[in-house]
Amino acid sequence: MKVLITRRIPRAGIKLLEKAGLQLDYRKGPPLSEKELKDAINGVDAIIPVMPDQITRGVLEAAGPNLKLVAHYAVGYDNIDIKAAAEMGIYVSNTPGDLTEAVAEHSLSLMLAVSRHIVSADRFTRAGNYKYWDPMVFLGSQYNGATIGIIGLGRIGSYLAKLCKNGFNMNILYYDAKKNERAEKEINAVFSPLENLLTKSDFVSIHVPLLPTTKHLIGMHELKQMKPTAFLINTSRGPVIDEDALIIALKEDWIAGAALDVYEEEPSIRQDLKDLDNVILTPHIASATRESRIGMSRMAAENIIEVLVNKKSPINLVNKDINKPRN
Ligand code: NAD
Repeated sequence: MKVLITRRIPRAGIKLLEKAGLQLDYRKGPPLSEKELKDAINGVDAIIPVMPDQITRGVLEAAGPNLKLVAHYAVGYDNIDIKAAAEMGIYVSNTPGDLTEAVAEHSLSLMLAVSRHIVSADRFTRAGNYKYWDPMVFLGSQYNGATIGIIGLGRIGSYLAKLCKNGFNMNILYYDAKKNERAEKEINAVFSPLENLLTKSDFVSIHVPLLPTTKHLIGMHELKQMKPTAFLINTSRGPVIDEDALIIALKEDWIAGAALDVYEEEPSIRQDLKDLDNVILTPHIASATRESRIGMSRMAAENIIEVLVNKKSPINLVNKDINKPRN
């Protein structure tokens, strides 16, 4: 049985697939174009795609009848047509859990970096501008006792909340489609309507999946509600923020700054964002720790083995409404 892996991933998962006797078409080059993806997927039994690969109905159809599983190498699966996969009897799995700590730690790093001006202070220092100690430059804000508003208190959001509570004694507000009673009990997280969270928070960090209900969840109206001293952090998905509105908010100082790992039109990033000093940009690397990526690679492979070798449903099944699985 044949498995297509669209990009270079850590060896751990590849080794598991080889040991299971599966034939691998392992692509290590740049992203495949739509045509290349359609050609490569034809005839395979499973595919490990990565985040930017668009697994559309057309791509699933191009695979032919053998395709049983799309074992996504990510937790967010907004790039996969899961409805079409379910209709066609193709399982979709993801890699939840193994990247939780990595993404929360990156969100915290971004938060610290943007609010303590680490990137602009580094540029300032390298440019030879540190001529004398100035009590009034690069003033940041203290974390102890500050309030963080977390939008989406799931796996990543709640781990970040714990870091903020236990590490910095911060107050935790959260907005979510459902209550997180565990976090309320363990770290005193307080559920809040979105508007109240935006008005009260010194830091706002976004951790919801991209869905029709979360697209542009943060737009002009929401940005206007934030404190002028507050910072906005996004490691979830770009389209959750209306970037046009964010650019205006940053230019007109409605908020103090933003730190982004994801963008509306990835990998392209608007020039306006690149030109602004009060924003930090990283290239979708929130899950990029060795530990997390090795875990993701192993998890994707285990899902494939569960379906192709053990003839079961994948461990991390996403499309639970699947119609007559193909295996
Ligand atoms: P999760 O499912 O554990 O948590 C998501 C939370 O969002 C849940 O508590 C859910 O109830 C809430 N939610 C869903 N829809 C909502 C809505 N309309 N309004 C309010 N709350 C809503 O997921 P997770 O593992 O914490 O991951 C969160 C997201 O982070 C992923 O979907 C993915 O898009 C993103 N992510 C990004 C990276 C990266 O590299 N930047 C890596 C991993 C995950």
